[in-house]
Amino acid sequence: MIREILRYPDPRLKQSAELVDNITGDLVQLVDDMVQTMYDAPGIGLAAVQLGIPQRIVVLDVNHEEPGKDLIKLINPVITSRVGEVLWEDGCLSVVDYTAEVKRAAKIEVKAWTPDEKEIVFQAEDLFAVALQHEFDHLDGKLFIDRISRLKKELYARRVKKLLREGRPLEPSRKGNPGI
Ligand SMILES: [Zn+2]
Repeated sequence: MIREILRYPDPRLKQSAELVDNITGDLVQLVDDMVQTMYDAPGIGLAAVQLGIPQRIVVLDVNHEEPGKDLIKLINPVITSRVGEVLWEDGCLSVVDYTAEVKRAAKIEVKAWTPDEKEIVFQAEDLFAVALQHEFDHLDGKLFIDRISRLKKELYARRVKKLLREGRPLEPSRKGNPGI
């Protein structure tokens, strides 16, 4: 089932997500819904918080040439190491029509659980690493616009307020790169 993706300034995007303590059938269903919603958007990553569900779950597929091949589903992910720095043009399914450069770690190591209760550890770099860090920020109630200058964020906030005042829907344009 495709679910609704919350858009900034929805306050639910600021929730800090809870650790998952039990992998139930409902949770597996939720993860499947997240995958469908991500591909439909279209996006390369999605956190449960973006659907208004404050649990530490992320799905990601940065390979949009072969959807499904590199799909990962992560429960309670943590970053266990960070190396280097990279500036990356970030965008978000929850932040309509806006991108900005954000500084992230260039390489990371991640530990997480999968929906079939396996513990996994893996390394990531480039877009994969950046997208993971972006999604993990969602789990802490943080958007990429919380990582840019206050001035830039204020200008964006004003633009969104104007759209809302004019009764225009906060729909992302379907052109350009898939969101995260
Ligand atoms: Zn996002």
